[in-house]
Amino acid sequence: MTKIYVLRYGHRPERDKRITSHVALVARAFGAHGFILEDIVDEKILETIRKVEERWGGRLYVEMGVDSRKYVLDWKKKGGIVVHLTMYGLHIDDVIDEIRNLGKDILVVVGAEKVPPFFYEHADYNVAIGHQPHSEVAALAIFLDRYYQGKELHLSFPNAKLIIVPSPKGKKVITVAKKEEKRKENREKTGAK
Ligand code: SAM
Repeated sequence: MTKIYVLRYGHRPERDKRITSHVALVARAFGAHGFILEDIVDEKILETIRKVEERWGGRLYVEMGVDSRKYVLDWKKKGGIVVHLTMYGLHIDDVIDEIRNLGKDILVVVGAEKVPPFFYEHADYNVAIGHQPHSEVAALAIFLDRYYQGKELHLSFPNAKLIIVPSPKGKKVITVAKKEEKRKENREKTGAK
């Protein structure tokens, strides 16, 4: 199976906490398998991810405090490709099929502050989600959505304690853990296995 990791470049703990958490949550919800934070270990972001997983399931691979340049070079050495999201790149419509058809592991690089030339030069693809400046969260979501052709929006995660039942109004949520507890109680009461 093709693996997609997201590398967040240039996270500034004071300014970017919320946005970086959203990058990680979009990575998880839209079908990426890993989230890599360069340079810094930010426990708050890890806590946010793990709290979401605790209730909604899944397990995103997370690594923090990495040297992003080395990570990019090692990723390529292992046969993966690097996709850097930037408004200066090639339009997503012109490259997404080619990227998908390669069937290779993908490291998606998104920036916060100005991204240095290294990433433009070492990326196998510099990809623009349109050629206007917007947001790393939007760029990542659209890249993953185009990559998976919308199928990721039907993802469900193992070990979820909560599952949403789509509802035209209000909130309908099944608490899986409670259901399981009830089953256990009933089994104990009836002696059934
Ligand atoms: N000013 C920064 C620069 O010149 O590199 C970009 C800052 S932007 C808020 C943060 C990140 O969002 C970028 O590094 C890029 O990954 C992503 N991004 C923003 N607009 C984009 C677009 N149109 N296409 C692809 N990625 C985009």
